[in-house]
Amino acid sequence: MVKVVKFGGSSLASAEQFKKVSEIIKSDSARRYVVPSAPGKRFSDDTKVTDMLYECYALASKGKEYKSVLEKIKQRYNDIINELGLSINLDKEFDIMESCFIGKAGRDYAASRGEFLNGMVLADYLGYEFIDAAEVIFFDDNGNFDIDTTNEILSERLSNIENAVIPGFYGSMPNDTIKTFSRGGSDITGSIVAKAVKADLYENWTDVSGFLIADPHVVNEPKVIKTITYKELRELSYMGATVLHEDAIFPVRKEGIAINIKNTNAPDDEGTLIVESTSKKPDYTITGIAGKRGFTAISIEKDMMNSELGFGRRILEVFEKNGISFEHMPSGIDTMSVIVQQDEFEKKEQEVLAGIHRNTNPDSIDIESDIALIAVVGRGMKSTRGTAGRIFSALAHAHVNVKMIDQGSSELNIIIGVKDEDFVKATNAIYDIFVKTRV
Ligand code: ASP
Repeated sequence: MVKVVKFGGSSLASAEQFKKVSEIIKSDSARRYVVPSAPGKRFSDDTKVTDMLYECYALASKGKEYKSVLEKIKQRYNDIINELGLSINLDKEFDIMESCFIGKAGRDYAASRGEFLNGMVLADYLGYEFIDAAEVIFFDDNGNFDIDTTNEILSERLSNIENAVIPGFYGSMPNDTIKTFSRGGSDITGSIVAKAVKADLYENWTDVSGFLIADPHVVNEPKVIKTITYKELRELSYMGATVLHEDAIFPVRKEGIAINIKNTNAPDDEGTLIVESTSKKPDYTITGIAGKRGFTAISIEKDMMNSELGFGRRILEVFEKNGISFEHMPSGIDTMSVIVQQDEFEKKEQEVLAGIHRNTNPDSIDIESDIALIAVVGRGMKSTRGTAGRIFSALAHAHVNVKMIDQGSSELNIIIGVKDEDFVKATNAIYDIFVKTRV
């Protein structure tokens, strides 16, 4: 059994957290490959080391005063080293880093040092080999992640190593410069390593006990999702559920490697298991609810629209030409609505309206802003009758007016549009009917 374990920034924010991490790793000999993030926040208004590195680089590369920020960064690592009683000394690394900052080695290089240095400290503490991600994770000339080269070199390199620490978040370009993934990208590195060693499980350790059925800022103490499929997760992540970087699922998904989201501060909690597919019956008909505010619906009306060939295409062409992607497109016989993100639309509003008039000569165009979209997601919905009915009766009881309904063809999700101000009420009504009353 081989497990790859990734620890997020808050799991490695202090010496105390390092101790918990070590205990977790050492309690299971299958946990052979470790991917750390940079030290994160120790308390809510603390600053992540990655953010300090961006700031320090911006100052140093512009010739401004950067030493005080640099000192704070050094202090973060030295506190961890000293409190753990380690003998590792990062002075040489800090000197190299400082001269590279002044020499404008790039923002990505700067940010990557957070993981690089934390990886060195963690490897020293665990007594594991340290592998610089620049030697095993590769991007192509265009800056896209090169999965084939990476997989070949990384699996070869790890094949003879029993235990290793590989820092997350970065790799190297063909010209040897450092490139990072987008923010939160250590999750992706963990997934790449899991694929390379053909791991049995990819454990992603963070500060929550898994994905919650709904956003805890919207629903009071929502329950944890025990098992979720990759497809369900994708739907929920798109609508704003964050815990895992969206791109982290691609490397492991095709390999059939499950991801287990676990809590460093409560290691006995089961967490959430993310799988390709499962025969396990979900606990509830729905797996999760997620939503976003800030959409606009543009509704176009024209008599005999349905018999006009190419009408839909001509409408969408206008949005495409203005660089606006659409989220949904519910339609009736003589009406059609296009739902788009409000901030994208506002900038191009008049161009879009003029374009629709020119392209389709409609009877009327109506614009409604401040719409929230709520995605109700669940593999269990396919085999259950009356799910939509239950959602709408719950919303009616809560006095929420439904603006739009869209059921995905996979029957995995139902998207509901409501006014922004009804978002919290609507989400709670749906949560209550499926989870609290458990039908
Ligand atoms: N340290 C990086 C960030 O703050 C990457 C990560 O934590 O995954 O975004």
